[in-house]
Amino acid sequence: QAVPLLPLHLSYSLYILSPFSTKMASHIVGYPRMGPKRELKFALESFWDQKSSAEDLQKVAAGLRSSIWKQMADAGIKYIPSNTFSYYDQVLDATAMLGAVPPRYGWNGGEIGFDTYFSMARGNASVPAMEMTKWFDTNYHFIVPELGPDVKFSYASHKAVDEYKEAKALGVNTVPVLVGPVSYLLLSKPAKGVEKTFSLLSLLPKILPIYKEVISELKAAGASWIQFDEPTLVLDLEAHQLQAFSAAYADLESTLSGLNVLIETYFADLTSDAYKTLIELKGVTAYGFDLVRGTKTVDLVKSNFPKGKFLFAGVVDGRNIWANDLASSLSTLQALEAIVGKENLVVSTSCSLLHTAVDLVNETKLDDEIKSWLAFAAQKVVEVNALAKALAGQKDEAFFASSAAAQASRKSSPRVTNEAVQKAAAALKGSDHRRATNVSARLDAQQKKLNLPILPTTTIGSFPQTVELRRVRREFKANKISEDDYVKAIKEEIKKVVDLQEELDIDVLVHGEPERNDMVEYFGEQLSGFAFTVNGWVQSYGSRCVKPPIIYGDVSRPKPMTVFWSSTAQSMTKRPMKGMLTGPVTILNWSFVRNDQPRFETCYQIALAIKDEVEDLEKAGINVIQIDEAALREGLPLRKSEHAFYLKWAVHSFRITNVGVQDTTQIHTHMCYSNFNDIIHSIIDMDADVITIENSRSDEKLLSVFREGVKYGAGIGPGVYDIHSPRIPSTEEIADRINKMLAVLETNILWVNPDCGLKTRKYAEVKPALNNMVAAAKLLRLQL
Ligand code: GLN
Ligand code: ZN
Repeated sequence: QAVPLLPLHLSYSLYILSPFSTKMASHIVGYPRMGPKRELKFALESFWDQKSSAEDLQKVAAGLRSSIWKQMADAGIKYIPSNTFSYYDQVLDATAMLGAVPPRYGWNGGEIGFDTYFSMARGNASVPAMEMTKWFDTNYHFIVPELGPDVKFSYASHKAVDEYKEAKALGVNTVPVLVGPVSYLLLSKPAKGVEKTFSLLSLLPKILPIYKEVISELKAAGASWIQFDEPTLVLDLEAHQLQAFSAAYADLESTLSGLNVLIETYFADLTSDAYKTLIELKGVTAYGFDLVRGTKTVDLVKSNFPKGKFLFAGVVDGRNIWANDLASSLSTLQALEAIVGKENLVVSTSCSLLHTAVDLVNETKLDDEIKSWLAFAAQKVVEVNALAKALAGQKDEAFFASSAAAQASRKSSPRVTNEAVQKAAAALKGSDHRRATNVSARLDAQQKKLNLPILPTTTIGSFPQTVELRRVRREFKANKISEDDYVKAIKEEIKKVVDLQEELDIDVLVHGEPERNDMVEYFGEQLSGFAFTVNGWVQSYGSRCVKPPIIYGDVSRPKPMTVFWSSTAQSMTKRPMKGMLTGPVTILNWSFVRNDQPRFETCYQIALAIKDEVEDLEKAGINVIQIDEAALREGLPLRKSEHAFYLKWAVHSFRITNVGVQDTTQIHTHMCYSNFNDIIHSIIDMDADVITIENSRSDEKLLSVFREGVKYGAGIGPGVYDIHSPRIPSTEEIADRINKMLAVLETNILWVNPDCGLKTRKYAEVKPALNNMVAAAKLLRLQL
């Protein structure tokens, strides 16, 4: 048997090299594309910078694909996916396949090449990119198709067939994966001009002929299986939307005949209506379910599963980094086997492994104990196969024993459990923590102390991070410079930022966050219960990846985290210096979290740690403290029925952090989105004194939502200019925007600030922009 190209973690690789080689019923929904060391990222960026050729990029991509296929084949996986690779995004790939290029990109037909493809993804000199949005409740972002009644669909990218053939030439007969036709349309948005009137599903009869061409080519090339990803089936769908699934697959039925057809769902369980629709689809032979998040799926299957169809049971978690509890998964699988029959059960991942890290073997800094608790994509492939073998009566006792030992060690490790923290967090449940006085009374008390002008100006926290600054942090981390030198350098940077803000005449200052690499990592590194990887990257969009911390144990704060820097900064100025913290919900939502306790329990623990920090800042004389909750909204569950519960504990967690401060301490929060319609009451329920929010897109909508909330009386700072662009807004333009806000909001609650932190901008942009912002505020103060 071939040695895997990608080296695997020791116990896993021993398993692979064992001499069983018949393929058991095992399947992988999809695999990360970036490569174990982000090879694709670097190849893409070098190509975009014109430092390498299209051929160079294609070569790297082909190398990654072939090593992934080989790795799965060597691990013994029977159903190996193809077309899950992408140069940018799988939904954009579907758009290319359908030739649904918006006219502004000037595409003239033919096979879509890199030029058109990357223009849609990233924009070009004359046309901006297509919109990007979050893929369900993951941190992956896809390119939203823009469709109107006039789109002329044509078969314009043969990628699915090419990848199938490429794998076949390497000796791997794969299951080609397509974004399903109904999910494709449901994830699209109507083109400009027809937003209100156009029904996207009306395009179904126009895209199905293209799907038929692709299916026929795949059949001709020798495919025996095909997978349609239809994850929208887990959403709250209306009857006519479910109807579209029935219609689509009925129409495809004859083309699909001769193929085994898998409909893959993930990220949640299905409503009983959706489940019924799914199992009655024409031409379909197999259904894939997420049994990790879909906690009710097993019951649905028990109640009714069509005879003779395949069940692809997603028991290995594609959204997290924890090693599978093999014994427990095996018993779930055995229960399912009793229902669907031995021949019809296939072991799978809960979703594409795209959403987890790539390979544990590259983690050189994690200790062996923690490492034994983890499985990244490469290890999950092995787990899937071990389960399939066990089901088939070829259980690898040694592998299962080492899995059980790891599970037991995780349960009993003193690094995981901290009784005091458990108790304190448990005591919070069911209670309600609120500051004693209402926001208007608090704002009065704060104003007496802070004495701010009307339309006070501030910024969101970070200032530009220069190359020099990043170097200092890197060298300190690598022990190349002393702590004294590091502190000196950071202090100098803070002084620069403070002086600049005084010169600009900003009212509430920030220290600029020069000591922080990332707003979550910075806190995670100082809290106990967190671990960090060196290569645990997960694709966020295009070539961009994030490296979430791993929360493995009870969270506590051994010592103050920001007090030294904030008080140092405060000592440099008489103006109020804002303390700057990341909130518990954001820390939770941007980490890999424990799967051995509910999310809210972990969140309460983080909240208690941040509460200690807030109180220490207050004691150190910091009178304004901002607690960022940039990711509160993105934690919203997919199902509406679960929103209320999430919002309740998320908002409660936020309140816990500052329930103990005096009235005179002003609590700010900041959020990176302007889509507040559905959660405005929860935002108000956070009971912050001042809320600063992103507002680059839709003033009117946002403000009318906040007008609703005005009676609540807190300070509101809708961003007055967009920091995501290098453009410098003029004084008039900013004044105009503030005026528009004043038409809706009362003068005494409005704050003037940019959209978000300034970290990614250059000083040459930030200085004039802030200068104009302050000038605009002053101009309006004179008129009021
Ligand atoms: N305080 C953070 C900053 O300014 C906030 C970042 C964010 O909201 N994403 O960088
Ligand atoms: Zn922000």
